[in-house]
Amino acid sequence: MGLWAAVHAERRGIETLLVDAGQIGCGASGGLLGALMPHMPDRWSEKKQFQFDALVSLEAEIAAIEEVTGLSAGYRRSGRLIPLPKPHLRKIALGHFEDAEAVWRTGERRFHWHVLDRPPGEDWIDPAAGESGFVHDTLAARVAPRSLVATLKAFLLAARHVRVLENTAIAALDPVRGMASIGGATIAFGHCILAAGYRSFPFLEEMTSGLKKPLGQAVKGQAALLVADIDPALPTIFRDGLYVVAHEGGHVAIGSTSENSFADPFSTDEQLDALIAAARDMVPALRDAPVIERWAGLRPKAIDRDPMVGAHPENQNLIALTGGFKVSFGLAHRLAEAAICIASDASIEFLLPESFGISNHIAVSSR
Ligand SMILES: Cc1cc2nc3c(=O)[nH]c(=O)nc-3n(C[C@H](O)[C@H](O)[C@H](O)COP(=O)(O)OP(=O)(O)OC[C@H]3O[C@@H](n4cnc5c(N)ncnc54)[C@H](O)[C@@H]3O)c2cc1C
Repeated sequence: MGLWAAVHAERRGIETLLVDAGQIGCGASGGLLGALMPHMPDRWSEKKQFQFDALVSLEAEIAAIEEVTGLSAGYRRSGRLIPLPKPHLRKIALGHFEDAEAVWRTGERRFHWHVLDRPPGEDWIDPAAGESGFVHDTLAARVAPRSLVATLKAFLLAARHVRVLENTAIAALDPVRGMASIGGATIAFGHCILAAGYRSFPFLEEMTSGLKKPLGQAVKGQAALLVADIDPALPTIFRDGLYVVAHEGGHVAIGSTSENSFADPFSTDEQLDALIAAARDMVPALRDAPVIERWAGLRPKAIDRDPMVGAHPENQNLIALTGGFKVSFGLAHRLAEAAICIASDASIEFLLPESFGISNHIAVSSR
């Protein structure tokens, strides 16, 4: 989130200091999965429209950064496969085909929610996984999280208006005086965009009066990376919270757990073993594929589940940019653009759903 904000600041010529407590990308964004999953096409809403526009625009945004840096972010609109194990699920899916035809379109592009009897292509999902067929959507995409972060970092290191300061934690924020403390020193700011992932919440809570509940929490997730001889264009498989994502270079990512309570935030355990076993069961090509990494991270989940963006009502020069929870990769560039517009008093040229506003989250936490 913070990297995209710095990219937009650079494009608008805003002098910016990007500060990270660790190495850039050492937080939740430095993971393995990178699935870019659209919301369901039924019961369309401004939130779904925002995500749709963001998913469509991300392709060109990434291409622009790749062109400047000469690096690849591992992006591909490879689609998504959802097995339908029961007849009633097929009936629902057929209804969604019509929904998608109506709303998954821009002026020049259309995306589809096909319902198929058999999975497209060979050597990927076991046809037996979908007794009542498969959904194949052509809007979903994927990006390689670490490649994306490295590409954004390279762009920012060569930027004219952005300076990057790593391994420097902000210990305290004083928006009234426009000061951020880093150990014994201070940084003065006109506006501060707070994009510290789940660690944004305590900063925001400290400066918000009348809260009865926390503004957000960390939700642990575990994932794994395997190597297999697969086509990187294969669609992401999604079933009951299990993702199997084909990446470039024979890499396949499997995830994710969703843990509200945990003893150790960064260890992996038998819950990940169960996901890997389920993926091997569904995808024959993964049966003997070696696991080359197991990884865990903490997602930022705001109290109202939606992203949290906007100027703090009591401190207008502090702008929250967090709470992307499970869908940050598809939205971050747009949310960050909104945050930069707010910071620079520019108008936002797209609709930012009201439920994303920090004021909405504060209202929920104050009840
Ligand atoms: C297992 C797993 C799988 C996931 N899969 C997907 C997926 O497929 N698709 C998807 O869209 N999302 C996915 N997510 C969610 C996604 O990774 C997160 O929502 C996203 O990375 C959050 O980005 P962020 O920039 O808000 O936070 P982060 O990436 O955590 O960045 C926050 C940064 O702030 C820095 N920071 C924190 N405190 C301070 C401080 N005091 N001073 C200075 N710097 C500070 C940190 O060092 C860090 O670099 C997944 C998450 C997990 C854990």
